[in-house]
Amino acid sequence: MLEKELKDVIRDIPDFPQPGIVFKDITPILKDQRLCKEIVFEFARRLEGIKIDVIAGIESRGFLFGMMLANHLDIPFVPIRKQGKLPYKTISESYKLEYGQATIEIHEDAFEKGQNILIHDDLLATGGTVVAASKLIEKLDGKIVGYSFVISLDFLQSHGRLTRFSDRIISLVH
Ligand code: AMP
Repeated sequence: MLEKELKDVIRDIPDFPQPGIVFKDITPILKDQRLCKEIVFEFARRLEGIKIDVIAGIESRGFLFGMMLANHLDIPFVPIRKQGKLPYKTISESYKLEYGQATIEIHEDAFEKGQNILIHDDLLATGGTVVAASKLIEKLDGKIVGYSFVISLDFLQSHGRLTRFSDRIISLVH
């Protein structure tokens, strides 16, 4: 089963990038091209029947499977990046981190008003990042049709923060 296979290869790195965090290292997945394809197929299977116009992936690990999935579904991919990285005109959204704050940005012409957007990231923790990403999408009048994550840290109970935007939340590993 895919979830078991993924759990077997995802590497836990204690105290990275700071004490108390167990970092989920997905780089071993990337070394296995069959597993990468399985991930894309599984996302596509779970999204069957949903009209998605564009996938918005979050820097940086959200670019990996976000782009692969967009390509598989034959739809565009747009990057949401940390402040100061996108070269064209942007809109931005700031959010609180455990320590300090972060800002993410999207190009103002990333998609057309009213398009159906799937937000993708590698991992859902507190949900702060995808809530900020959701606000960016809504500022551009996009319609959020769902979220996809490779991993969801369910003990943080962040699903509730996302359901005000969309109740379709797909995670391959819990
Ligand atoms: P959050 O905003 O708290 O949901 O954090 C999600 C973002 O931080 C994602 O872009 C993840 O890549 C990253 N992240 C948070 N916690 C972890 C973790 N334990 N392992 C790997 N990445 C993490």
